[in-house]
Amino acid sequence: MQVFGLVGNPVGHSLSPPMHEAAYEALGIDARYVTFEPDEEAIERAIDGAAALGVSGLNVTIPFKRRVFDCVNPDPLAARIGAVNTVDFSTTPPSGYNTDAAGVTRSFAHHDVALGGRDAVVVGAGGAGRAVAFALADAGCAVHVANRTVERAEELAAAVGGATAGGLASLDRVAEADVVVNATSVGMDEDASPVPAEHLHGDLAVLDAVYSPIDTRLLREARAAGATTIDGAWMLLFQGVEAFERWTDHDAPIDEMNAALRARL
Ligand code: NAP
Repeated sequence: MQVFGLVGNPVGHSLSPPMHEAAYEALGIDARYVTFEPDEEAIERAIDGAAALGVSGLNVTIPFKRRVFDCVNPDPLAARIGAVNTVDFSTTPPSGYNTDAAGVTRSFAHHDVALGGRDAVVVGAGGAGRAVAFALADAGCAVHVANRTVERAEELAAAVGGATAGGLASLDRVAEADVVVNATSVGMDEDASPVPAEHLHGDLAVLDAVYSPIDTRLLREARAAGATTIDGAWMLLFQGVEAFERWTDHDAPIDEMNAALRARL
């Protein structure tokens, strides 16, 4: 039996175990997906221990994405983002990937939203914002990063290369944009939106990384403006799909994984 899992702190609320185990069941793979919650100072030993115990793969979440990056061999995209959310122990040293980026691009593709040549506004420059900005730029978008702390937006835009940056006042660019992604925590467990509704319009595609609640105020206001809306569970699904496919070399059973995820939201 193979063992996969999620390492983070806390991880008790995670939706990843049912999502991945639905895939194992659908494809008849003899595997389990479990959660690990090491103390902050123990993460490097935890990664070494997982390798020694024969764990096949780990997802990584807050607060460990940057520190696990230093324990593994990151692929070029994860190296540019500077964070790892998926570890593959089939290599020595273990390989590190950032599947949040594919979670973004595959969410748009699944909703038939083309990204090449489009103007995109990324709201947020934290961990999720970094993955989103690199993903959209690599997909051919012209990226603008808007963040509460302007310096973080500027640093991210410079790292991406060719992107522009500003504070939250620069969200007026949404009025001329094709694509918007909320990668802040605004809207999580609250009825608030990071994007003033007056900038939303019917030619936009809006992805909200927040998935609790699933129908955020940003998505409701975008839908009212006639925009295409994509909720955060799609990004969560497709980062998991990408990790599953890297670990197993099988095409993921997307419908079964999506059903397992949404049944618990
Ligand atoms: P993070 O690294 O802590 O970054 C938080 C971001 O939110 C920063 O850009 C921060 O701006 C901004 N922010 C926080 N409070 C704000 C406020 N009141 N007004 C304006 N901006 C504010 O967190 P993260 O890991 O990037 O996660 C961000 C969100 O994405 C969370 O809700 C998380 O659940 C979600 N997420 C979803 C997925 C998915 O698969 N769907 C994956 C990853 C993350 P400053 O820089 O100014 O502090």
